[in-house]
Amino acid sequence: MKMSDYNIEIPIKDNRMIVFNSLSGAILKLPSDAYTTDNDMLIRHKFVVPKSVNEIDLYKYRYLAAIYATLSWHITIAPTMRCNFNCPYCFEGNNKGGRIMNKGVINSVKTFLKSKSDKPIAITWFGGEPFLGWKAISDISEFLLSENIKFHATAITNGSICTDEILKNIDIYKIKRLQITLDGNQEQHDSKRKFKTGKPSFNLLIENIHKFLSYTNIKISVRVNIDKSNSDSFPELRKYLHSEFKEFFANGRVLISPNPVKNRTDFSGCSDCLSIDEFYNFEQKNIPSLKYLPSHRGPCSLRCRSSIGIGSDGLIFKCLEHFGDSSKAIGSILNSTIDLQKEAKYAIGVLPFDVEECMSCKLLPVCGGGCAIDLSKCIDKKYKPSCVINYSLLKKQILNYYSIDE
Ligand code: SF4
Ligand code: SF4
Repeated sequence: MKMSDYNIEIPIKDNRMIVFNSLSGAILKLPSDAYTTDNDMLIRHKFVVPKSVNEIDLYKYRYLAAIYATLSWHITIAPTMRCNFNCPYCFEGNNKGGRIMNKGVINSVKTFLKSKSDKPIAITWFGGEPFLGWKAISDISEFLLSENIKFHATAITNGSICTDEILKNIDIYKIKRLQITLDGNQEQHDSKRKFKTGKPSFNLLIENIHKFLSYTNIKISVRVNIDKSNSDSFPELRKYLHSEFKEFFANGRVLISPNPVKNRTDFSGCSDCLSIDEFYNFEQKNIPSLKYLPSHRGPCSLRCRSSIGIGSDGLIFKCLEHFGDSSKAIGSILNSTIDLQKEAKYAIGVLPFDVEECMSCKLLPVCGGGCAIDLSKCIDKKYKPSCVINYSLLKKQILNYYSIDE
């Protein structure tokens, strides 16, 4: 028998230790002298494994299986790439614009969705601002309902468009959740998330959130993009939202989800990004009840067959960050073409198993090698992988989970 390659040992006081296995997710507190290869408990929970076991193969098998699995479809559809906002950090940059999805593309989307109706379909309405293309959303949703196709939807919207027509149909079209971004308190939000006309948006979004909650059954996830410029004012925003939407926080229809602005490889606009450790400290300071252990991570949408993005012009994308950039498309639903070579390159071109640092990393099963686009830039050793976790962070998470002071 041998100790698992994925055991992470953390000594604590009184000659005890915590051991976490990143492959199985098992965690155990035990006396340090019981950490031996003949301990039955450790064997049962796979902290100790037979010498013949190749653990990296186990993770690789699960990872590759997830790439090819199609138990359900996750389809992101942009009815338009147009947006009425002008956020300085928008990754869509010059790709914002173009037309609202036309009749020909809408018909192809219907045919495409029907061809996937053997499995449940989860749709994400995306953009640009998806509700600028409400007619396309309505047309496609009516079709899915009339064909009895099993689906549900969410929408990533800037929250500025809330017409009577939308309020009347949002539940009928099975849109269960909206993600709306508020980038800090009113002053900070309005300095970043303005209309193209320069008009501020904070007050209108609050008003619209009230309408969505009052006239529909939808849940709202308020996303707050956190960086150094607004992390200090997060408590003020949270307090304000909790008083404004008190009953909806209580019944679970509103939640706040702070998200770090990611410092991605080659991303020049991020001098204010928080490191992963800094973001964890931010979470602990602001949401002390939040205790979690890292969980198993598989491949992202770029790699998975079950994840498909459709642009307003019918192009097929694999990553939200590619929307609107035709050079990144893998095909088109208009003529049912897929560039298999390109799809394969995204899916398996550079796997974490091809990168030395990841192969020797005990955190691989709970990291998955980070963003697949970033990982593909590591292969010639020009860049380091964009790790989503590190040992000091894992240690903090585990000690915090057990409420043990460092
Ligand atoms: S990206 Fe970093 S943390 Fe993740 S597996 Fe690779 S080396 Fe480990
Ligand atoms: S992790 Fe990276 S490659 Fe994967 S979907 Fe997100 S941005 Fe795209």
